[in-house]
Amino acid sequence: VIRCRAAVAWAPGKPLSVEEVEVAPPKAGEVRIKIVATGICRTDEHLLQGCFPSAEFPVIPGHEGAGIVESVGEGVTSMKPGDKVIPLCIPQCGECSFCLNPESNFCQKSHISEPQNLLPDKTSRFTCKGKQIHHFLWISTFAEYTVVPEYSVAKIDAAAPLEKVCLFGCGFSTGYGAAINTAKVKPGSTCAVFGLGGVGLSVVIGCKVAGAARIIAVDINKDKFAKAKELGATDCINPRDFKKPIQEVLTEMTGQGVDYSFEVIGHADTMIAALASCNMNTGVCVMVGELDSGSEISIDPMLLLTGRTWKGTMLGGWKMRECLPKLVSSYLEKKFNSDLLITHTLPFAKVNEGFELLRAGK
Ligand code: NAD
Ligand code: ZN
Repeated sequence: VIRCRAAVAWAPGKPLSVEEVEVAPPKAGEVRIKIVATGICRTDEHLLQGCFPSAEFPVIPGHEGAGIVESVGEGVTSMKPGDKVIPLCIPQCGECSFCLNPESNFCQKSHISEPQNLLPDKTSRFTCKGKQIHHFLWISTFAEYTVVPEYSVAKIDAAAPLEKVCLFGCGFSTGYGAAINTAKVKPGSTCAVFGLGGVGLSVVIGCKVAGAARIIAVDINKDKFAKAKELGATDCINPRDFKKPIQEVLTEMTGQGVDYSFEVIGHADTMIAALASCNMNTGVCVMVGELDSGSEISIDPMLLLTGRTWKGTMLGGWKMRECLPKLVSSYLEKKFNSDLLITHTLPFAKVNEGFELLRAGK
C-alpha cells in the first residue's frame, strides 16, 4: 500500500480536499501509476457539481493525466515499471464489437455501458480516513498514485514531457480528433468553432492541420481570441457584438454557412446555433460539448431534413490505446504545438485554484 496525496470530492458542490489516501497495490490485469501531471477539463467541473451521469461520491476526480508505471499486477505484459503512460478515460479492451469495428472508438467497457466508479472487479483501490473512495472513469488522475486496468492505459514514447502531454488524455485529443476523425475536415474548407476552452482551441488546431482555409472562432470571452488566432483561427467573433443570432452572422460571412461547425461549450442553445450555422445540405456539425445529464434539445426538423449531418464525438474518435502513442509521436515531431494550450501550471496543493481559473474563463 502506498500512502500519498489525492484531491477528494466528498460531496457534490464542495471544493476538493487534498488528503492523505492509501492506494492498494494493483490486482491482476491492473497497473499502478505515479501521476506526474494532470490537466483540468470542464468535465471534472461537471462531476464536482454533481452533473456527471452515474458518478458516486466520495470520489477522486481527474481524467487528463500522465505518469510513470510504478508496479503491475499479475498477467500484465504490455507495460512494466518505469514506462511513461497516459491513463485513458475511454478504454480499449480490444475484444468488444466496438473495439473490433475500425469505425468505432467507444469501447463497451466505457462508462456509458459500465459504471467506472469502482474498478472492474467492483472494488476500490483508494481509502481515506477508513472510508472507501470511488474512482472516476477508472483513472482518477487527481491522485499521486492511481490504479487502472491495463486496457485503460497507453504506453507512450520515453522522450515525451509528461507535464505537456497530459493534455492528450482528454482535451487535446478530443478537440483535435473532432476535426480530423469525426468531421474529417477537408483542405480548403470553412469551419466554425463555438467555445475556445482547451477543447475548442484543440479543434482549431485540428482544422488548421487538416488544411481548412477559413476557421471562424466564436466565444463570448474575447480574451480567448489572441490564442485562437495564434493557433490558426482566421476570424474571431463574439455573439454579444451582434443583434442578430450568430447562425445568421456566420451564414452571411460565408454565403451558405460553414462546411463544418463544432459546439465545444455544452449548452443547448449553442448546439442549435452551431447546427444552423453549417451549410443546409452538405454541412457537418459535431457536438463536442457535454450537456448536463438529463438535458434535452428540441430542434426544427428542417435543419436536418435539408441534408445536414449532426454527429457527436467521444474523445475525438481515437481508439485510445493504439492512437495516443502515435499522437504523442506527432507532437514530438512538431506536427502541432499543443503546448500553447497550457495557460497556468500549479502545484498539486492548489488544485482548487485551478478550478477557480477554469470558472473565471482564464
Ligand atoms: P471551457 O470551460 O474551458 O471552455 C468553454 C468555452 O466556451 C469558454 O471559453 C467560454 O467562454 C465559452 N462559452 C461559454 N458560453 C458561450 C456561449 N454562449 N457562446 C460562445 N462561447 C461560450 O471548457 P473545455 O474544458 O474546453 O470543455 C468544453 C466542453 O467539452 C465541455 O462541455 C466539456 O464537458 C466537453 N468535453 C467533451 C468531451 C467529449 O469526449 N465529447 C471531452 C472533453 C470535454
Ligand atoms: Zn472494447
